[in-house]
Amino acid sequence: MIPANGVEAYVGLGSNLGQPMQQVLSAAKELAALEAVEQIALSPLYGSKPVGPQDQPDYINAVMRIKTRLSPLDLLGECQAIENAHGRLRLMRWGARTLDLDVLLYGDSRIELSDLVVPHPQLPNRAFVLYPLADVAPRDLSVPGLGSLAELLAACPYTGLQRINP
Ligand code: AMP
Repeated sequence: MIPANGVEAYVGLGSNLGQPMQQVLSAAKELAALEAVEQIALSPLYGSKPVGPQDQPDYINAVMRIKTRLSPLDLLGECQAIENAHGRLRLMRWGARTLDLDVLLYGDSRIELSDLVVPHPQLPNRAFVLYPLADVAPRDLSVPGLGSLAELLAACPYTGLQRINP
C-alpha cells in the first residue's frame, strides 16, 4: 500500500546528446509536472565522463528527490514515457543517449523484478549518481541493503565529475 501522502523516491537523470543540459532540465520539469509526483528537490547539474565507450560526449547528470503516489512500476513507466518523448534511441549498451531516467530509490523498498531493480544496482559504483544524490538527500540517508549514503560516498571517489551550477 502506498501511503496517501506518498513515498519519497529518487530519480537519476542523464543525457549526452542533443543539448544535454536542456534535455535534463526539461525532463526534470516533466517529471515534476506529473499529477502523482511532487518535486522536493533537484540537485545541481554535474558534467561526467562516459561509462563504457569513451568516443561519446560527456554526460550531464542530476538527481531529483520526489514524493510520489505512483507505485514503483508506474514510476518506472512514467520515466520511460519521458525518455521516449525525448526521442531516446537505444543503439548500444552504455552508448550515447538523449535521455536516461533511472529509479534510484523508492522509500526503503528493495525490489527485484525483471523490469525493475531498486536500489538501482549501479548506484554504489557511480559518482555521477551518488554526489548529486547527496545534494538532495537527508544527511543520514540509508540505502536499503547497501548501508549509509555516507559510506557509499566514502568508497566512491569524486572522479571525472564537474559541478556545473550551485
Ligand atoms: P538503461 O536505460 O540502459 O539504464 O536500462 C533500462 C532498462 O533497465 C529497462 O528495461 C528497465 O526495465 C530496466 N531497469 C531495471 N531497474 C531499473 C531502475 N531501477 N531504473 C530504471 N530502469 C531499470
